[in-house]
Amino acid sequence: MRGPFHRTPREHPTGPLEGYKLAFPMLSADGTRTGFSGVTLGRAHVYRTVDDAVCAHGCRHACPSRWCDCGFYCFHSDSDARELACAPEHQGSILLEVAVSGRFRRYELGLRYSRQRVRAIRMRPCRCGTTVSALADTGAGQRGWRRLEPVCARCAGARPVLTPDRFARLAEIELLPEEVPAGPLTPVGARGGEADRLLDDSAFGGRDPIEGDPLATAGAVAVLTAEMALLQARLDEMARQLGRATARLDELEGRD
Ligand SMILES: [Zn+2]
Ligand SMILES: [Zn+2]
Repeated sequence: MRGPFHRTPREHPTGPLEGYKLAFPMLSADGTRTGFSGVTLGRAHVYRTVDDAVCAHGCRHACPSRWCDCGFYCFHSDSDARELACAPEHQGSILLEVAVSGRFRRYELGLRYSRQRVRAIRMRPCRCGTTVSALADTGAGQRGWRRLEPVCARCAGARPVLTPDRFARLAEIELLPEEVPAGPLTPVGARGGEADRLLDDSAFGGRDPIEGDPLATAGAVAVLTAEMALLQARLDEMARQLGRATARLDELEGRD
């Protein structure tokens, strides 16, 4: 079946491949190294600014294996990554701009590949709506790594924090300006009344974005389908391969 996520023909790109993805910012337990943790497949693994994919299932094959769903993933378009960011379980994630190299497989929505360089990061406003001023320890994480989240000074409270600038310097990546909510959440100008809660994006400190509003996350489950579809395409391909292998086994057994 050729759905919207079918593989496209084999190709040999001439220019660099780029993409967008979400990740949780991570800091090593000793506070000297930064990393990123995926939001879906491979979330148990922390990768560095420049890194090679390892099989999420512990297999020793090279990623991305055609028999497996492993490897790095990214979207072609930043808007697809942003849609994924609306899901409540992705609160605290940041947008990554990545350069893709090594072996890769192209899908309609994105790429699955072996090697990645994180070039830049972009954060959303704090969930309270205020501009982010720190990356605070969430208390979550995994062995050797703390998970951070972008927050404003007030929401950081007494938690240990790192400034976004410091994180970017440690990671050797560019820190892009904070995300501005899109659509009806964008600034409405002077026409809005009290109820409209004006969004002034003239200065980063002056904005009053309302991202994080529960209404803004309504229907968020639907956006997960984009990334899930990439995984589904892999499963379909594996099922086909398995079917072929089974048929071959039947054939061999029939000869005995
Ligand atoms: Zn694998
Ligand atoms: Zn806040």
